[in-house]
Amino acid sequence: MVQALVLEKKGELSLRDIDLPQEVGPDDVKIAIDTVGVCGSDVHYYTHGAIGSFVVREPMVLGHEAAGTIIAVGANVKNLKVGDRVCMEPGVPNMSSRATKLGIYNVDPDVRFWATPPIHGVLTPEVVHPAAFTYKLPNNVSFAEGAMVEPFAVGLQAATRARITPGDVAVVIGCGPIGIMTALAALAGGCARVYISDLSAPKLAIAGQYAGIHPVNITERALKDVIAEETEGWGADVVFEASGSPRAYDGIFDIVRPGGTLVLIGMPVEPTRFDVAAAIIKEARIETVFRYANNFDRAVNLIASGKVDLKPLISETFDFARSIEAFDRAAKGLPDDVKLQIKLRG
Ligand code: ZN
Repeated sequence: MVQALVLEKKGELSLRDIDLPQEVGPDDVKIAIDTVGVCGSDVHYYTHGAIGSFVVREPMVLGHEAAGTIIAVGANVKNLKVGDRVCMEPGVPNMSSRATKLGIYNVDPDVRFWATPPIHGVLTPEVVHPAAFTYKLPNNVSFAEGAMVEPFAVGLQAATRARITPGDVAVVIGCGPIGIMTALAALAGGCARVYISDLSAPKLAIAGQYAGIHPVNITERALKDVIAEETEGWGADVVFEASGSPRAYDGIFDIVRPGGTLVLIGMPVEPTRFDVAAAIIKEARIETVFRYANNFDRAVNLIASGKVDLKPLISETFDFARSIEAFDRAAKGLPDDVKLQIKLRG
Protein backbone atom coordinates (compact mmCIF):
# COMPACT_ATOMS: atom_id res chain seq x y z
CA MET A 1 0.00 0.00 0.00
CA VAL A 2 1.24 3.49 -0.85
CA GLN A 3 -0.12 6.94 -0.15
CA ALA A 4 -1.77 8.74 -3.07
CA LEU A 5 -4.19 11.53 -3.93
CA VAL A 6 -7.29 9.55 -4.86
CA LEU A 7 -10.37 10.84 -6.66
CA GLU A 8 -12.98 8.63 -4.94
CA LYS A 9 -15.78 9.90 -7.13
CA LYS A 10 -16.97 13.21 -8.56
CA GLY A 11 -16.29 15.97 -6.03
CA GLU A 12 -14.52 13.76 -3.46
CA LEU A 13 -10.75 13.59 -3.03
CA SER A 14 -8.76 11.84 -0.34
CA LEU A 15 -5.09 11.47 0.49
CA ARG A 16 -4.96 7.83 1.54
CA ASP A 17 -3.26 4.47 1.11
CA ILE A 18 -4.02 2.50 -2.03
CA ASP A 19 -2.64 -0.61 -3.68
CA LEU A 20 -0.65 0.31 -6.81
CA PRO A 21 1.65 -1.94 -8.89
CA GLN A 22 5.29 -1.35 -7.86
CA GLU A 23 7.02 -4.15 -9.76
CA VAL A 24 9.77 -2.99 -12.14
CA GLY A 25 9.66 -4.94 -15.43
CA PRO A 26 12.79 -5.41 -17.61
CA ASP A 27 12.02 -2.31 -19.74
CA ASP A 28 10.76 -0.15 -16.87
CA VAL A 29 12.18 2.36 -14.47
CA LYS A 30 10.95 3.29 -10.99
CA ILE A 31 10.77 6.99 -10.26
CA ALA A 32 10.61 8.83 -6.95
CA ILE A 33 8.13 11.54 -7.87
CA ASP A 34 9.25 15.06 -6.97
CA THR A 35 6.77 17.47 -8.57
CA VAL A 36 3.36 17.05 -10.22
CA GLY A 37 1.44 19.80 -12.02
CA VAL A 38 -2.30 20.15 -11.56
CA CYS A 39 -3.89 19.97 -15.01
CA GLY A 40 -7.27 21.18 -16.20
CA SER A 41 -8.18 17.59 -17.00
CA ASP A 42 -7.43 16.43 -13.42
CA VAL A 43 -9.60 19.24 -12.12
CA HIS A 44 -12.38 18.41 -14.58
CA TYR A 45 -12.47 14.78 -13.39
CA TYR A 46 -12.70 16.13 -9.84
CA THR A 47 -15.51 18.60 -10.54
CA HIS A 48 -17.44 16.67 -13.22
CA GLY A 49 -16.45 13.01 -12.78
CA ALA A 50 -15.93 12.58 -16.51
CA ILE A 51 -14.45 14.02 -19.68
CA GLY A 52 -16.48 12.96 -22.71
CA SER A 53 -16.62 9.19 -22.79
CA PHE A 54 -13.99 8.83 -20.02
CA VAL A 55 -15.99 8.37 -16.82
CA VAL A 56 -14.56 7.89 -13.31
CA ARG A 57 -16.27 4.67 -12.15
CA GLU A 58 -13.76 3.57 -9.51
CA PRO A 59 -11.34 5.46 -7.26
CA MET A 60 -8.52 6.86 -9.41
CA VAL A 61 -5.18 8.47 -8.51
CA LEU A 62 -4.88 11.90 -10.17
CA GLY A 63 -1.87 13.63 -11.75
CA HIS A 64 -0.05 13.23 -15.05
CA GLU A 65 2.44 16.13 -15.32
CA ALA A 66 5.40 14.81 -13.39
CA ALA A 67 9.14 14.89 -12.79
CA GLY A 68 11.31 12.95 -10.37
CA THR A 69 14.42 10.83 -9.82
CA ILE A 70 15.14 7.28 -11.01
CA ILE A 71 15.42 4.87 -8.06
CA ALA A 72 15.45 1.53 -9.93
CA VAL A 73 15.97 0.34 -13.51
CA GLY A 74 14.91 -2.86 -15.26
CA ALA A 75 17.46 -5.32 -16.70
CA ASN A 76 17.08 -4.09 -20.32
CA VAL A 77 17.24 -0.37 -19.60
CA LYS A 78 20.33 1.25 -21.15
CA ASN A 79 19.47 4.95 -21.45
CA LEU A 80 18.76 5.74 -17.79
CA LYS A 81 20.38 4.99 -14.45
CA VAL A 82 19.59 5.33 -10.76
CA GLY A 83 19.90 8.98 -9.72
CA ASP A 84 18.94 10.46 -13.10
CA ARG A 85 16.48 13.34 -12.88
CA VAL A 86 13.66 12.78 -15.36
CA CYS A 87 10.23 13.76 -16.62
CA MET A 88 7.71 11.28 -17.91
CA GLU A 89 5.38 11.11 -20.88
CA PRO A 90 2.06 10.02 -19.36
CA GLY A 91 0.62 8.15 -22.35
CA VAL A 92 1.97 4.68 -23.08
CA PRO A 93 0.71 3.15 -26.33
CA ASN A 94 0.62 -0.45 -27.42
CA MET A 95 4.09 -0.69 -28.95
CA SER A 96 2.94 -3.00 -31.75
CA SER A 97 -0.17 -1.08 -32.77
CA ARG A 98 -0.61 0.38 -36.25
CA ALA A 99 -0.70 3.92 -34.80
CA THR A 100 2.58 3.40 -32.96
CA LYS A 101 4.22 1.96 -36.05
CA LEU A 102 3.12 5.08 -37.95
CA GLY A 103 4.66 7.35 -35.27
CA ILE A 104 1.26 8.67 -34.22
CA TYR A 105 1.15 6.82 -30.93
CA ASN A 106 -0.86 9.64 -29.34
CA VAL A 107 -3.90 8.43 -31.30
CA ASP A 108 -3.38 4.74 -30.58
CA PRO A 109 -6.85 3.57 -29.44
CA ASP A 110 -5.12 1.39 -26.81
CA VAL A 111 -3.01 4.17 -25.26
CA ARG A 112 -2.92 4.03 -21.47
CA PHE A 113 -2.74 7.59 -20.14
CA TRP A 114 -2.13 8.54 -16.51
CA ALA A 115 -5.20 9.80 -14.67
CA THR A 116 -7.55 8.96 -17.53
CA PRO A 117 -10.06 6.35 -16.33
CA PRO A 118 -9.36 3.58 -15.56
CA ILE A 119 -5.59 4.30 -15.44
CA HIS A 120 -4.13 5.68 -12.21
CA GLY A 121 -2.10 8.89 -12.21
CA VAL A 122 1.09 9.75 -10.35
CA LEU A 123 0.22 11.84 -7.28
CA THR A 124 1.97 9.20 -5.19
CA PRO A 125 5.60 8.98 -4.01
CA GLU A 126 6.85 6.22 -6.36
CA VAL A 127 5.81 5.21 -9.86
CA VAL A 128 6.85 2.51 -12.34
CA HIS A 129 6.99 3.59 -16.00
CA PRO A 130 8.52 2.35 -19.30
CA ALA A 131 12.02 3.76 -19.81
CA ALA A 132 11.07 4.54 -23.43
CA PHE A 133 8.65 7.21 -22.18
CA THR A 134 10.98 8.65 -19.53
CA TYR A 135 13.25 11.60 -20.44
CA LYS A 136 16.40 12.76 -18.70
CA LEU A 137 16.44 16.36 -17.48
CA PRO A 138 19.66 18.35 -17.90
CA ASN A 139 21.05 19.78 -14.64
CA ASN A 140 19.84 23.29 -15.45
CA VAL A 141 16.20 22.17 -15.75
CA SER A 142 14.44 22.04 -12.37
CA PHE A 143 11.86 19.45 -11.32
CA ALA A 144 9.25 22.22 -11.45
CA GLU A 145 10.15 22.91 -15.09
CA GLY A 146 10.32 19.15 -15.75
CA ALA A 147 6.71 18.88 -14.60
CA MET A 148 5.81 21.61 -17.14
CA VAL A 149 7.16 19.59 -20.07
CA GLU A 150 3.86 17.73 -20.48
CA PRO A 151 1.63 20.76 -21.08
CA PHE A 152 4.39 22.46 -23.12
CA ALA A 153 4.53 19.37 -25.35
CA VAL A 154 0.91 20.11 -26.34
CA GLY A 155 2.00 23.58 -27.49
CA LEU A 156 4.90 22.05 -29.40
CA GLN A 157 2.58 19.57 -31.06
CA ALA A 158 0.43 22.52 -32.19
CA ALA A 159 3.45 24.47 -33.46
CA THR A 160 4.66 21.37 -35.30
CA ARG A 161 1.26 20.80 -36.91
CA ALA A 162 1.19 24.46 -37.99
CA ARG A 163 4.37 23.97 -40.08
CA ILE A 164 5.53 27.46 -39.16
CA THR A 165 7.76 29.35 -41.59
CA PRO A 166 10.22 31.75 -39.91
CA GLY A 167 8.65 35.18 -39.63
CA ASP A 168 5.06 33.96 -39.54
CA VAL A 169 2.46 35.95 -37.63
CA ALA A 170 0.27 33.82 -35.39
CA VAL A 171 -2.86 34.23 -33.32
CA VAL A 172 -3.72 32.12 -30.29
CA ILE A 173 -7.35 32.21 -29.20
CA GLY A 174 -7.58 31.50 -25.44
CA CYS A 175 -5.06 32.52 -22.78
CA GLY A 176 -5.24 29.49 -20.49
CA PRO A 177 -2.15 27.39 -19.74
CA ILE A 178 -2.30 25.59 -23.10
CA GLY A 179 -2.87 28.85 -24.99
CA ILE A 180 0.21 30.40 -23.39
CA MET A 181 2.26 27.22 -23.98
CA THR A 182 1.16 27.30 -27.63
CA ALA A 183 2.17 30.94 -28.01
CA LEU A 184 5.61 30.18 -26.54
CA ALA A 185 6.00 27.15 -28.80
CA ALA A 186 4.97 29.22 -31.84
CA LEU A 187 7.65 31.81 -31.01
CA ALA A 188 10.23 29.06 -30.46
CA GLY A 189 9.16 27.60 -33.81
CA GLY A 190 9.97 30.82 -35.64
CA CYS A 191 6.92 33.08 -35.45
CA ALA A 192 7.85 36.76 -35.48
CA ARG A 193 4.98 37.67 -33.20
CA VAL A 194 1.97 36.04 -31.62
CA TYR A 195 -1.32 37.73 -30.71
CA ILE A 196 -3.18 36.03 -27.88
CA SER A 197 -6.83 36.78 -27.15
CA ASP A 198 -9.01 36.31 -24.09
CA LEU A 199 -11.67 38.01 -21.97
CA SER A 200 -9.53 37.92 -18.82
CA ALA A 201 -7.20 40.87 -18.25
CA PRO A 202 -5.11 39.09 -15.55
CA LYS A 203 -4.49 36.09 -17.81
CA LEU A 204 -3.49 38.37 -20.70
CA ALA A 205 -1.13 40.30 -18.42
CA ILE A 206 0.71 37.07 -17.59
CA ALA A 207 1.08 36.16 -21.28
CA GLY A 208 2.09 39.74 -22.09
CA GLN A 209 5.21 39.43 -19.89
CA TYR A 210 6.85 37.54 -22.74
CA ALA A 211 8.58 39.44 -25.55
CA GLY A 212 6.81 38.63 -28.81
CA ILE A 213 3.41 37.85 -27.26
CA HIS A 214 0.83 40.60 -27.79
CA PRO A 215 -2.34 40.36 -25.66
CA VAL A 216 -5.71 41.23 -27.19
CA ASN A 217 -8.55 41.81 -24.75
CA ILE A 218 -11.71 40.97 -26.70
CA THR A 219 -13.89 42.80 -24.17
CA GLU A 220 -12.26 45.97 -25.50
CA ARG A 221 -11.73 45.28 -29.22
CA ALA A 222 -12.79 42.60 -31.69
CA LEU A 223 -9.93 40.21 -32.49
CA LYS A 224 -10.82 40.49 -36.18
CA ASP A 225 -10.27 44.27 -36.13
CA VAL A 226 -6.95 44.00 -34.30
CA ILE A 227 -5.58 41.36 -36.66
CA ALA A 228 -6.77 43.26 -39.74
CA GLU A 229 -5.00 46.38 -38.47
CA GLU A 230 -1.80 44.56 -37.49
CA THR A 231 -1.53 42.65 -40.79
CA GLU A 232 -2.73 45.35 -43.22
CA GLY A 233 -5.92 43.39 -43.80
CA TRP A 234 -4.07 40.22 -44.86
CA GLY A 235 -4.70 38.02 -41.81
CA ALA A 236 -2.51 35.76 -39.68
CA ASP A 237 -0.41 32.99 -41.20
CA VAL A 238 -1.45 30.64 -38.42
CA VAL A 239 -4.42 30.74 -36.04
CA PHE A 240 -4.38 28.40 -33.05
CA GLU A 241 -7.76 27.78 -31.39
CA ALA A 242 -6.93 27.00 -27.76
CA SER A 243 -10.08 28.11 -25.93
CA GLY A 244 -12.37 25.17 -26.70
CA SER A 245 -15.23 27.66 -26.86
CA PRO A 246 -17.75 27.09 -29.69
CA ARG A 247 -18.06 30.88 -30.02
CA ALA A 248 -14.42 31.10 -31.06
CA TYR A 249 -15.45 29.62 -34.43
CA ASP A 250 -17.73 32.52 -35.32
CA GLY A 251 -15.85 34.34 -38.05
CA ILE A 252 -12.60 32.52 -37.29
CA PHE A 253 -11.58 32.48 -40.97
CA ASP A 254 -11.74 36.27 -41.01
CA ILE A 255 -8.42 36.28 -39.13
CA VAL A 256 -6.70 33.55 -41.20
CA ARG A 257 -4.81 34.87 -44.24
CA PRO A 258 -5.58 33.38 -47.67
CA GLY A 259 -3.80 30.01 -47.77
CA GLY A 260 -3.20 30.20 -44.03
CA THR A 261 -3.59 27.56 -41.36
CA LEU A 262 -6.03 26.94 -38.53
CA VAL A 263 -4.86 24.58 -35.78
CA LEU A 264 -7.54 23.20 -33.46
CA ILE A 265 -6.34 22.45 -29.92
CA GLY A 266 -9.14 23.36 -27.47
CA MET A 267 -11.70 20.58 -27.30
CA PRO A 268 -15.28 21.90 -27.19
CA VAL A 269 -17.59 20.01 -24.85
CA GLU A 270 -20.43 20.13 -27.38
CA PRO A 271 -20.39 19.33 -31.12
CA THR A 272 -19.29 22.57 -32.76
CA ARG A 273 -19.84 24.08 -36.22
CA PHE A 274 -17.72 26.31 -38.37
CA ASP A 275 -18.18 28.03 -41.71
CA VAL A 276 -16.87 25.55 -44.30
CA ALA A 277 -17.35 27.96 -47.19
CA ALA A 278 -15.25 30.60 -45.43
CA ALA A 279 -12.48 28.01 -45.05
CA ILE A 280 -12.69 26.93 -48.69
CA ILE A 281 -12.65 30.47 -50.08
CA LYS A 282 -9.29 31.02 -48.39
CA GLU A 283 -8.11 27.47 -49.11
CA ALA A 284 -7.23 27.32 -45.44
CA ARG A 285 -5.42 24.28 -44.10
CA ILE A 286 -7.00 22.85 -40.94
CA GLU A 287 -5.01 20.76 -38.50
CA THR A 288 -5.97 19.13 -35.23
CA VAL A 289 -3.93 18.36 -32.13
CA PHE A 290 -4.49 15.55 -29.66
CA ARG A 291 -1.89 15.53 -26.87
CA TYR A 292 1.55 15.00 -28.50
CA ALA A 293 3.91 12.47 -30.00
CA ASN A 294 7.70 12.67 -30.21
CA ASN A 295 7.85 16.11 -28.61
CA PHE A 296 9.05 15.54 -25.02
CA ASP A 297 12.74 15.55 -25.94
CA ARG A 298 12.26 18.71 -28.02
CA ALA A 299 10.44 20.38 -25.12
CA VAL A 300 13.29 19.51 -22.73
CA ASN A 301 15.85 20.85 -25.23
CA LEU A 302 14.04 24.18 -25.60
CA ILE A 303 13.70 24.64 -21.84
CA ALA A 304 17.35 23.71 -21.26
CA SER A 305 18.51 26.14 -23.96
CA GLY A 306 16.80 29.05 -22.20
CA LYS A 307 14.75 29.82 -25.34
CA VAL A 308 11.57 28.91 -23.47
CA ASP A 309 11.13 29.98 -19.86
CA LEU A 310 8.11 28.34 -18.22
CA LYS A 311 8.99 29.38 -14.65
CA PRO A 312 6.81 32.56 -14.70
CA LEU A 313 3.79 30.30 -15.31
CA ILE A 314 4.13 28.41 -12.01
CA SER A 315 1.72 30.29 -9.78
CA GLU A 316 2.05 28.36 -6.52
CA THR A 317 3.52 25.13 -5.16
CA PHE A 318 1.74 23.02 -2.51
CA ASP A 319 3.20 20.25 -0.34
CA PHE A 320 1.81 16.76 -0.99
CA ALA A 321 -0.07 16.94 2.33
CA ARG A 322 -1.94 19.98 0.93
CA SER A 323 -2.89 18.29 -2.36
CA ILE A 324 -6.63 18.60 -1.81
CA GLU A 325 -6.22 22.30 -1.08
CA ALA A 326 -4.31 22.63 -4.37
CA PHE A 327 -7.19 21.01 -6.26
CA ASP A 328 -9.81 23.15 -4.54
CA ARG A 329 -7.79 26.22 -5.48
CA ALA A 330 -7.46 25.00 -9.09
CA ALA A 331 -11.20 24.31 -9.24
CA LYS A 332 -11.85 27.98 -8.45
CA GLY A 333 -10.08 28.90 -11.70
CA LEU A 334 -8.59 32.11 -10.31
CA PRO A 335 -7.61 34.40 -13.19
CA ASP A 336 -4.06 34.93 -11.83
CA ASP A 337 -3.35 31.20 -11.61
CA VAL A 338 -1.70 29.57 -14.59
CA LYS A 339 -0.14 26.40 -13.18
CA LEU A 340 -0.36 25.03 -9.64
CA GLN A 341 2.11 22.32 -8.68
CA ILE A 342 2.34 19.76 -5.90
CA LYS A 343 5.76 18.92 -4.46
CA LEU A 344 6.10 15.44 -3.00
CA ARG A 345 9.67 15.78 -1.71
CA GLY A 346 11.19 18.50 0.46
ZN1 ZN B 1 -2.02 18.04 -18.56
